[in-house]
Amino acid sequence: MTRREYISEVPFQAGTGDRSIYLTFDDGPNPECTRRILDVLAEHRVPATFFVLGAYVEDHPDLLRRVVAGGHSVGNHTMTHPDLSACDSETVEREIREASKAIVSACPQAAVQHIRAPYGAWSEDVLSRSMIAGLRPVHWSIDPRDWSRPGVDAIVDTVLAAARPGAIVLLHDGCPPDEVENCKPTGLRDQTILALLRIIPALQSRGFSLCSLPQ
Ligand SMILES: [Zn+2]
Repeated sequence: MTRREYISEVPFQAGTGDRSIYLTFDDGPNPECTRRILDVLAEHRVPATFFVLGAYVEDHPDLLRRVVAGGHSVGNHTMTHPDLSACDSETVEREIREASKAIVSACPQAAVQHIRAPYGAWSEDVLSRSMIAGLRPVHWSIDPRDWSRPGVDAIVDTVLAAARPGAIVLLHDGCPPDEVENCKPTGLRDQTILALLRIIPALQSRGFSLCSLPQ
């Protein structure tokens, strides 16, 4: 029997010299931020993984297509970003299914294989429903709390201090629907973007390669 669990790091084989690190972006696609983040990633030729919200994908299918066309992978971050661990089983199933459906209708080439629960709030039920939907649950190992706008230096320092092979970095290219009112639409992820411009070359100069999550 497969154990129900999520991964926080991508397992790597010791001795192979594999120094992959995985950048992930949650809560998009967002017309303001996702485009800018895609530009930075393209400039540095770095693939990443975007855990998108189905509701936003329905609003911006073109952006999702741009993510996929840029060589990035797309994961399921539910339809509306509820705390799934507080939802009944039927809601959990629906949130996951509808988000996958929205992604595939916007971009049939998007092979969705991963899921991240909003707030990282996993429960036995969430893990089990994810696996029934054929999705691999993915958490993170490095969280610089970029959504709280702690300052560019703080984001950069947290990521670099914890960088190691297999690490999964949690960043954000959007804002959940219930927080939109508190989020300024302009400058929303400025700190994330500025931090990214420093994090990518710093990790590369330390011999890490930045990858999208393995399929
Ligand atoms: Zn989220």
